[in-house]
Amino acid sequence: MPQVLIVGAGATGMTLAIELLRRGVAVRIVDVAASYFAGSRGKGIQPRSLELLDMVGLASEVMGSGGLYPVIKLHFGPIGIRAWSLGTHHAPTEDRPFPNLVMLEQWRTEEILRAKIAALGGRIELGVGIEALAQTDKQVTVTLTNGEAVTADYVAACDGGRSPTRGLLGLELHGSTVDENTSIVADLEIEGLDRAFWHAYPLRRGGIHSLAPLPNSELFQLQAPEQIAVAGLEKGVEGLTGRTVRSVAWQSRYRHQARMINRYRVGRVFIAGDAAHIHPPSGAQGLNTGLQDAFNLGWKLVSAIRTGSPSILETYEAERLPVAAAVLDLTKELHLTISKSRGDLTNQLGLSYRGGTLAQDSTAVDGLRPGDRVPDQRLADGRRLFEVMRHGGATQIMRADRNHLLVRPDGYLAEISTVQVSSYHGHEVVPVDGAR
Ligand SMILES: Cc1cc2nc3c(=O)[nH]c(=O)nc-3n(C[C@H](O)[C@H](O)[C@H](O)COP(=O)(O)OP(=O)(O)OC[C@H]3O[C@@H](n4cnc5c(N)ncnc54)[C@H](O)[C@@H]3O)c2cc1C
Repeated sequence: MPQVLIVGAGATGMTLAIELLRRGVAVRIVDVAASYFAGSRGKGIQPRSLELLDMVGLASEVMGSGGLYPVIKLHFGPIGIRAWSLGTHHAPTEDRPFPNLVMLEQWRTEEILRAKIAALGGRIELGVGIEALAQTDKQVTVTLTNGEAVTADYVAACDGGRSPTRGLLGLELHGSTVDENTSIVADLEIEGLDRAFWHAYPLRRGGIHSLAPLPNSELFQLQAPEQIAVAGLEKGVEGLTGRTVRSVAWQSRYRHQARMINRYRVGRVFIAGDAAHIHPPSGAQGLNTGLQDAFNLGWKLVSAIRTGSPSILETYEAERLPVAAAVLDLTKELHLTISKSRGDLTNQLGLSYRGGTLAQDSTAVDGLRPGDRVPDQRLADGRRLFEVMRHGGATQIMRADRNHLLVRPDGYLAEISTVQVSSYHGHEVVPVDGAR
C-alpha cells in the first residue's frame, strides 16, 4: 500500500514524489495522460526554485540544459529596437548562488525530474487517472480509471488547472478572468529569425505577439492572441516576422485567469500546483509556485508519517495559500505592464513564512528572522550550506556568537536558539559549524 498517492505527474507532482521518495516514503504516481508533456510552456525557472532543486541535486542539470533570458527586441513594422530583458544577468554571490531566471523548456524540466524519480526507484503510471475518492479519518481510497481501488495514508492532488480531484472534493476555484482573449502558445521553427533576441511585436490595440528563442534548440516559443492563427498558425507567424515557418512542434491554447481555491486540504487530501492556483503566465510564477508547494508539503507529509502526528500538516495551507494569493495579484499586475522590471519582484527569494505557526519567534540574527529563506553560506569546514542541506532533514548552524540557526528541511529558518537540538518534527537535525 502506498503511503502517498500522487495524482498528476506534472512538475508539481514529480517534485513532491522526489521529496517523498528520497526520504523513504512509499509513493504511487498516476497520470491520466497517455504520453509525457511535450511543450515548452512553463519555461522560466526562478532563482528560488533553482536553490530548492539544488537541494535535490538537480540545479546544475537544469542550469546546464537551459540559458539566461535574452534581451527583447521590439518590432514596430520594419524598425527593431533593442529593449530590456525579462531576466537578470547577475554574477553569483555566496548568499545567492543562482541569482538569475533560467529559461528551460517545461518538457525538459519534467524530463530531469522524471529521471530523478527513476533514480530514486519511483515509477510514473501513465494512462491512469482518478475517477472517485472516498476517505475516513485513517485513510483515503481512490478509484482509478482502470478500475483499481488504491488505498493510501494521504493523497496529493497535483492534477493541474482543471483538476478532477478538486472537483471530487467539491472545491471550486474563486477569482476572475483577467483578459477575455484566448491566447496561443506554440513551439515553432522559423527560418532565419535572429536567435540572439526575444522578438516582441506590440499590437496597436494593446497586447503583444512574442517569440522567445528556446535554449539548445532550433525552436521559438510563440505567445500571442489566438487571432494570429485565424488563417493558419504558420501563415500568421510568417505575416508577423516575414520569415518562413519550417515546422510547428507543439501548440496549445490558454486563457488568462486569476483563480484559486480557499482550502488546500480536505481531510487526508492535499492540493498543490495549478490544481490550487491558476494565473497569467506573466512573471513566470506558475510552475515555480507549484514546485514550492511541493517542497513545502513534502517534508511535512514525511513528518506526519514518521511521527503519526498530523498536526504539522495544518501549516501547509497556512503557509502556501497566502503565497498563492500574492502571486495572483502580482501576475495580474504584470499581465498589464510588460515593461515592469521583474528581478526581485518575481525571483521568489524574498518569500518568507514569518509569523506563521512554525515561525512565531521574532528574534533576528543579521536581519534573518524565523520563517525567512536561509541564504547560502560557506561553512567553517569549507562546504556550502545548500550542499549540506541535501541530506533531507533539518540543519542547525552553530554560530560562534552562540546563536544556533535551525533550518527546516525546505530551507527556511525555523528558530534561533542557544541550545542544540537533535530532531525537528520527526526529521534528524544535522549540526554544522557556521563560518568563523
Ligand atoms: C503560456 C504559458 C507560459 C507559462 N510560463 C511559465 C513560466 O515561464 N514559469 C512558470 O513557473 N510557469 C509558467 N507557466 C505555468 C506552468 O506551465 C504551470 O504552472 C505548470 O505546468 C503547473 O504544473 P502542475 O504540475 O501543477 O500542473 P500540470 O503541468 O498541468 O500537470 C498536471 C498533470 O496532471 C495530469 N492529470 C490531469 N487530470 C488527471 C487525472 N484525472 N488523473 C491523473 N492525472 C491527471 C495531467 O495529465 C498533467 O500531467 C506558463 C503557462 C502558460 C500557459
